[in-house]
Amino acid sequence: MKELFPIFKANPDLAYLDTAASSQKPDKVLDAILEFYEDGYSNVHRAIHRLGEQATERYENARESVAKLINASPEEIIFTSGTTASINLAARSLIPTFDSGNIVITTMEHHANLIPWQQLAHKQGLELRTIPLTENKQMLDMEKARELIDNDTRIVAFTHVSNVLGTINPVKELAGIAHQHGAIVLVDGAQAIAHLPVDVKELGADLYAFSGHKMYGPTGIGVLYGNKDLLDRMEPPSWGGEQVEKVTIKQTTFTKPPHKFEPGTPNIAGAIGLGSAAEFILEIGYEKMQEHENKLIKRLLGQFEKLEGVTLLGPKERTGIFTFTMDAHPHDIAEFLDKQDIAIRAGHHCAEPLHCQELGLDASTRASIGIYTEKEDLDRLIEALEIYVKTGGVFNPDQVGEGNLSEEQILHAENIREHARKPRNKRIIPEPTATKMERNPFCGDELEVSVIVDEGKIKDIAFQGKGCAISQAAMSMLTKKLQGKKTDEILTLSGEKGREYVTSLLGIPIGPVRMKCALLGLRTVQEALR
Ligand code: PMP
Repeated sequence: MKELFPIFKANPDLAYLDTAASSQKPDKVLDAILEFYEDGYSNVHRAIHRLGEQATERYENARESVAKLINASPEEIIFTSGTTASINLAARSLIPTFDSGNIVITTMEHHANLIPWQQLAHKQGLELRTIPLTENKQMLDMEKARELIDNDTRIVAFTHVSNVLGTINPVKELAGIAHQHGAIVLVDGAQAIAHLPVDVKELGADLYAFSGHKMYGPTGIGVLYGNKDLLDRMEPPSWGGEQVEKVTIKQTTFTKPPHKFEPGTPNIAGAIGLGSAAEFILEIGYEKMQEHENKLIKRLLGQFEKLEGVTLLGPKERTGIFTFTMDAHPHDIAEFLDKQDIAIRAGHHCAEPLHCQELGLDASTRASIGIYTEKEDLDRLIEALEIYVKTGGVFNPDQVGEGNLSEEQILHAENIREHARKPRNKRIIPEPTATKMERNPFCGDELEVSVIVDEGKIKDIAFQGKGCAISQAAMSMLTKKLQGKKTDEILTLSGEKGREYVTSLLGIPIGPVRMKCALLGLRTVQEALR
């Protein structure tokens, strides 16, 4: 299917294994968006002119296509800017209507399906309960779910598919339990919609949220499906034009769903692109998509089983999400793979409670597949990981992955690796003048720096903590470089000056994302000095 996606023409060597973060877009979707802007652009609704009517028709047709995809009616499809916005809309509309009770979520939620409930439940004085994982850390503990959901439960909100474990949750069963107790069921479908057939009626979801960009559609558009009775009862949590029947200075009568929930000019081109993505999926068919992906999943599971030194998270029964850990920092693995044009994701994947509390990990590495993934992409990943395990990975000039480094830079890279393996001054200073701990929230890297300052100069400096090779090596090198340096001078190293200082220390080019790792040490030293 690669031929349907122009990104692979522009990047023929790309193994794109980051579909769970965002999928690539087929010509069909791109053409629909461009055609709208080129041939028939106008605002929608209320325009009494030809283009306005055409645009409205395209916009509403897109709603119909999306409705068809999930077996809903068009009035049940609210266009939002994405899953996050959909869940926020639901939470903001529903939570203020409850003055007691509890909200049940799970520990495997993405932050998008956690923070809105956490924040609003707290404000409203509702209890937030979380369904934990089973002992093997692969599935939801359904026994606990039965204990936690009771007659005081107002909403049960959970993900259809875990964006870390690939676990497919038993939506129907959980929805059944919730409904027995009169609770509303919200399902986060962000990781399911492009991979599993979604029939909201069959699943028993009262609300179902997903994003266009993860289902071969554009960014900035998403959906909140809501069953008609529920949407009729829900109040819109934001206000403006396009959602009203009558407005006086004192009062507003809102129109019916879905428009009641879509104030302001919507993302028309986005919705049209999303409609086209829904048609794209319908034309291929979930069955064919699953057949393709399941073959790859089976193959990759077998490959991971044989891969020594790599631990795969999640159950066998899964979607094409492969999150793993090995004896290396995920950032270093991601960079090593990127040098071979293999795009994967490293970090906590916006599921910090799952990572840090349930799994006890700071970060992990995730490869994920889509309809365009081919077995060669997976073979390249496995081969690269095998090399990484054998060689320790980072910047080995004899292996693939040396990138475009000059000989001198390769020496610097070797030096970085050496510092990361044996960091200098990684020790405790018993009575420091100041100590400061800083984190890189993207990957959980943590550094604690202690300094002794005497007559405005650094007399001693040491650090503790964990992180990727770049952050550890930069910190280790800094502790040597900053000994005896004036604190005033260190504090002037901000912005571009700070970046230059650290880059020259490391001696190799550092990309914008890894610059955060590289600068963590300097930032922490400066905070300690302040
Ligand atoms: N839920 C899950 C399970 C996700 O994987 C994501 C995206 N990573 C989201 C919610 C948030 O989606 P968006 O950023 O498109 O709003």
